[in-house]
Amino acid sequence: MKRNQTIIRKSLKRDSFTCQKCCVKDEELNVHHIKPLYIDGKDELDNLITLCRACHHFAPDNEEDFKKYIEEECDGTMTFFLNTFNKFKKEHPILFNKALKEFES
Ligand SMILES: [Zn+2]
Repeated sequence: MKRNQTIIRKSLKRDSFTCQKCCVKDEELNVHHIKPLYIDGKDELDNLITLCRACHHFAPDNEEDFKKYIEEECDGTMTFFLNTFNKFKKEHPILFNKALKEFES
């Protein structure tokens, strides 16, 4: 089946070229159909989500399981860890410094 390249590009851009499962950026990214094409999933932005190759590989092939999959805790890739770390640092600088101090002592 011929894929709509415009919609793929739009989807990647919407998701900031980031895997929506593990938050990795500089990987080969795929665009996954949440509702698969073979059961009438549409090649439209609402039905598409950016995933890296690994996450795409493990993505369940049906809408219901996929929702659980994507909402599930990220499994601790370094990128995810760093993103969380930086987010925490930015949002809770005091807590962050306190934790860091305890960690270092
Ligand atoms: Zn991923």
